[in-house]
Amino acid sequence: MDFSKIKSGTAAVWAGETIHFSEGATTAPVVNSVTFAYDDIDEWFDVATGKRKGHIYSRNTNPTVEVLEEKIRILENAEAATAFATGMAAISNTLFSLLSYGDRVVSIKDSYGGTSKIFLDHLPRFNVDVQLCETSDHEQLEEEIKKGCTVLYLESPTNPTLKILDLKRLIRSAQKTGAITVVDNTFATPINQNPISLGTDLVVHSATKFLGGHSDVMGGLVCGRNDLVNRIFQFREINGASLHASSAYMITRGMKTLELRVLRQNQNALRIARFLQDHPKVTDVFYPGLESHPGHTIAKKQMSGFGGVLSFSLQGGFDEVKRLLNNLQFVHLAASLGSVSTLAGPPKTTSHVEMSETQRKQLGIPESLIRYSAGIENAEDLIDDLDSALASV
Ligand SMILES: *Cc1c(COP(=O)(O)O)cnc(C)c1O
Repeated sequence: MDFSKIKSGTAAVWAGETIHFSEGATTAPVVNSVTFAYDDIDEWFDVATGKRKGHIYSRNTNPTVEVLEEKIRILENAEAATAFATGMAAISNTLFSLLSYGDRVVSIKDSYGGTSKIFLDHLPRFNVDVQLCETSDHEQLEEEIKKGCTVLYLESPTNPTLKILDLKRLIRSAQKTGAITVVDNTFATPINQNPISLGTDLVVHSATKFLGGHSDVMGGLVCGRNDLVNRIFQFREINGASLHASSAYMITRGMKTLELRVLRQNQNALRIARFLQDHPKVTDVFYPGLESHPGHTIAKKQMSGFGGVLSFSLQGGFDEVKRLLNNLQFVHLAASLGSVSTLAGPPKTTSHVEMSETQRKQLGIPESLIRYSAGIENAEDLIDDLDSALASV
């Protein structure tokens, strides 16, 4: 099958699915086997030394996991891909594979909470110098890149205020210094944004979010340049953060409807953002699809849709937030995002719970902020739900 010209909706369904399976099966089986047997010792040896394709042991590679890796590789237009047990496993394996004692990494203050913890608590223990810049300050980022760094690590849109980075511009300045560039594409998904076409070396994903899409499975993915993915794969083989075949199957199954879901979630989020923007009890709406969003022009240039996640703040404080959330019907009050069902919660109690009020203020997170990840429900029902809950505030 030639995937070079097809669109992402077709790739989401077919990519990886053409690897041959027995008995004419049209769905990739879950291969629960830990180990793979050979009739012939020479053949075994050839597979073990990489001279011939095949599998040896499921911590390294597994046929079901391979299907998922091939699907994301094609969707992200990458040379290679490798899978992990969680998104954080993908991110920490990437950083610990690429960075060595004495290296320097440049990133942003608004990266995902777990990633921030690696930057602030763990990499410094290995004498890695971490420079976290103000997220939308492109001049500061470029200045720090120019000073030299091994890795530039970016995320756009960011959590929870959906800030937008000009990926092409920042990747270009990193390339001039020879730095390796990594983009966390979890919020956008390959349906809305292709960081490889914007020049990045690597893309990381939490497959737990939109890719799996049903809040019932965890996973992580890294794809991009062959030499770099191979380095990360070799580290993962040894530290053991491998994805289980059953989880790989569930993510692959979820990804077949990725385009359908994401297009619907883009539409729902935009309609909800517009509704909230006009509501008198709402003070701010953060969604890159709104013309009033400071990153809208860049988002329009580098994204084909603005994603399913938005955030907004209410007049008043945390009491108003609690009243609104407690009065919503079609929302799970829960962490995470990118599921078929709508999820919402205050960053104050979820992603940014460990920060002080001052730290949250510094990141521009209002006390009354609510993050809202639109599901695939009917937009009118979600808006009616928000409308009546807002009336109770
Ligand atoms: C959730 C998330 C992660 C971490 O993924 P897990 O699968 O929960 O380990 C990383 N980056 C972003 C942007 C996320 O939203």
